[in-house]
Amino acid sequence: MNNFLSSKAAAITPYTAGAQPVGSGIIKINTNENPYPPSPKVFEALSAFDADRLRLYPRPDGGMLRSAVAAQNGVPETHVFCGNGSDEVLGFAFYAFFDGNILFPDITYSFYPVWASLYGLSYQTVALNADFTVAADALYGGGVVLANPNAPTGIALEPNAIEGILVRNSEHVVIVDEAYAVFGAQSVIPLVQKYPNLLVVTTLSKSHGLAGLRVAYAIGQPHLIDGLERVKDSFNSYPLDTIAQIAASAALKDTAYCTQTAQKIIATRERTAERLAELGFLVLPSKANFLFVTHPRFAAADIKAYLEQNSIFVRHFNLPRISNYLRISIGTDAQMDTVVSCLIKLLHKA
Ligand code: PMP
Repeated sequence: MNNFLSSKAAAITPYTAGAQPVGSGIIKINTNENPYPPSPKVFEALSAFDADRLRLYPRPDGGMLRSAVAAQNGVPETHVFCGNGSDEVLGFAFYAFFDGNILFPDITYSFYPVWASLYGLSYQTVALNADFTVAADALYGGGVVLANPNAPTGIALEPNAIEGILVRNSEHVVIVDEAYAVFGAQSVIPLVQKYPNLLVVTTLSKSHGLAGLRVAYAIGQPHLIDGLERVKDSFNSYPLDTIAQIAASAALKDTAYCTQTAQKIIATRERTAERLAELGFLVLPSKANFLFVTHPRFAAADIKAYLEQNSIFVRHFNLPRISNYLRISIGTDAQMDTVVSCLIKLLHKA
């Protein structure tokens, strides 16, 4: 019991991030990081960086990064908000656009209920269908937050299903969290001009191998961007530091590298999915850089423990409906071969 906590801080249940084990020889496939290094353009930009620039505050709106995001996505700069990772952008968006009555799937990114509770906002969860697809028609009558592809299932909705959600909830903001869209889902950024209630949030953490840089952005019509700016400027006017702005701009401009690494990850995902299915796993159809799997004969917690003894770290959520599933991020082909060999040993031992 900590007597120094405010009553508000004492009442919250914070989000628990995946473990960050360190050490040589470990295979860390528990937090959906990209196994490939950032673009060579990022290395160049960082080595050319003049530290004297750090004397001055960074551009509060993201500066050149904002232009790079706008150019990349074919939208005007007025449609772009830059933030310190999508966790921050999403946290601002909850504050900016919701008064309660928030809807999201029962199985999704487990930070959503944390922000709602932090701000004292009511929310309702909508059960995924039996096959773990999102029940799009049931997301009706409030503000909506939707991860597409969904996490931790990896299953994506088609843009027309998202348009249905936008139309049915036209009085409320619909946030589409596209953290993993680059790995196979169709982005709804092209719908932003058509729907004044659509805010799309994207991060460079996974797509550009920059989880450590903490850069993300939101795209929406200017009234939504203004809402995010209001909240940002009431909390921390300069969330993105100068180095992050420079390195992220360099990464964004190298579209070819991003596409090439995403294609490699997709190929490894499909190959790994096939091999796991051959081993008897049920593998959900993923459009993300991870697989969500369960085995009919082995408890997920036991598989996780066995992998961990072999220095392989995956994620297990001890939550209703998914406690017998594991989320396995996609590493390199060589890493995934090691994971599959380790699983073969476990299955044959039993
Ligand atoms: N959204 C989803 C669905 C995620 O899985 C994550 C990663 N934990 C995030 C947002 C946050 O990513 P970041 O803060 O690194 O941009």
